[in-house]
Amino acid sequence: MIERGVLDTKSANEVNAHLLSLKEEAIALGANDVRIIPADMVSIEDEIIEMCRPPFCEQYGQSANCPPHVMTPEDARQWIRPYHSALIFKIDVSPGVLFSEEGLEIFKKVFLISARLEELSVGQGYVFSKGLAAGSCKTVFCRDIPCEALINDGKCRYLSVARPSMEALGINVFRLVKDVGWEIHAILRKSDPNDIPSAMLAGLVLV
Ligand code: SF4
Repeated sequence: MIERGVLDTKSANEVNAHLLSLKEEAIALGANDVRIIPADMVSIEDEIIEMCRPPFCEQYGQSANCPPHVMTPEDARQWIRPYHSALIFKIDVSPGVLFSEEGLEIFKKVFLISARLEELSVGQGYVFSKGLAAGSCKTVFCRDIPCEALINDGKCRYLSVARPSMEALGINVFRLVKDVGWEIHAILRKSDPNDIPSAMLAGLVLV
């Protein structure tokens, strides 16, 4: 059921055409595959943000887009409820690259695609559209400098592209990726890339 007010003014055909246009754009921007799914397929779980804490991630608390500065999973469950659809995209990457400096560029690409799709969607009248990325914007955009948005009520230096990750809100990305039919393998910091059959990064846009 379409619940968001803005979607009440759109026909199902219009919404579908819009989602397909976003899908085409995601592919044009470099995504390897895209799925359009009902938003209620996105599961938000309290335990997921445990993976945002050290030793799993050293950016915990270091960015305005990371826990505990983003909304809690409980708030995120309320926030996501009115959304109608979501578009999940993935970028395939070799495990060796993901563990290297080059891997940072792939993370950046997820941020850029998510933000661009959000911008396009908002521009086409779906004003609540929201892009989510993978990993911390601190690592990708502000690696060696403090988060500006956490200092003296400052503003994010990269407002147009920095977004929270799916995990930061408690989204179970592993489950979601599997549910849409893509291959995913658990990757930990201590994992040996040679032991991982394949790797990918995913982003999400809620419409
Ligand atoms: S200033 Fe940097 S670390 Fe802070 S929210 Fe923006 S991109 Fe992320």
